[in-house]
Amino acid sequence: LFRNRRAAHAPAPGADRPADGDVLLTADGLTKSYAGADGELPVLTGIDLKIRAGEIVALLGRSGSGKSTLLRCLAGLIPPSSGSVGYRGRRLTGANPGTAMVFQTFALLPWLTVQQNVEIGLEARGVPPGRRAEAALQAIDLIGLDGFENAYPKELSGGMRQRVGFARALVVEPDVLMMDEPFSALDVLTAENLRGELLELWESGQFPTRAVVLVTHNIEEAVLMADRIVVLGSRPGTVRETFEVALERPRDRQSAAFEELID
Ligand code: ADP
Ligand code: MG
Repeated sequence: LFRNRRAAHAPAPGADRPADGDVLLTADGLTKSYAGADGELPVLTGIDLKIRAGEIVALLGRSGSGKSTLLRCLAGLIPPSSGSVGYRGRRLTGANPGTAMVFQTFALLPWLTVQQNVEIGLEARGVPPGRRAEAALQAIDLIGLDGFENAYPKELSGGMRQRVGFARALVVEPDVLMMDEPFSALDVLTAENLRGELLELWESGQFPTRAVVLVTHNIEEAVLMADRIVVLGSRPGTVRETFEVALERPRDRQSAAFEELID
């Protein structure tokens, strides 16, 4: 799929490109509550977290454990109730300029072509129209959508639609790629293929991003993809805590140990 790529997409070694190990995202004492019928409902309580350049971090937890909430706080899409989120040492007050998001259900605009959907990512970052096409086509090739530039989302399979979601996020070359259950709307084989291809790109250094945060409830997926797993506990009525598990390569596929943590 990647054989006919128009151009190598490795990020230019610009002066501002973070080096491996640099802290990109931080959460300090992050708490988040939502207003409920009986007052404030705590979802995240005192989360401390660092995301560094060069790593894939999985946020693992059961449905309702606060994974999407944490991801949205890190991306600056919602404000924390207390504590803070930082990007490269600066406290965030709005949307995080160093992140781009891939969504579970793709979130494509059906009346736009593949290329136009990808260019939306650039438009959102203020890239002028004349400079959008080339970058969009590079991202489209990188992610295996070569030849589908003018197709509409409804003409594509689920896997191809999610590739558009990836291209739209990667086209802005975000420091951190944020993914909220990006494979869970896909069938098992499609998900496996896409995961494998993304890992291959990541490990070959062609991924135009410096870190990945992957939200998932799938333990095997976390073990397969991540260098580090942050587990959000989800016992009802208890304060949520996070555990961190570092993974060695080659991947340890035994997931039984995580079953206990996630509970
Ligand atoms: P996850 O992504 O792990 O499934 P979420 O972060 O979506 O978890 O949700 C965590 C908890 O917060 C759930 O109990 C959910 O119902 C609640 N919640 C999420 N978003 C909102 C919201 N906008 N308003 C009120 N409650 C919310
Ligand atoms: Mg979620």
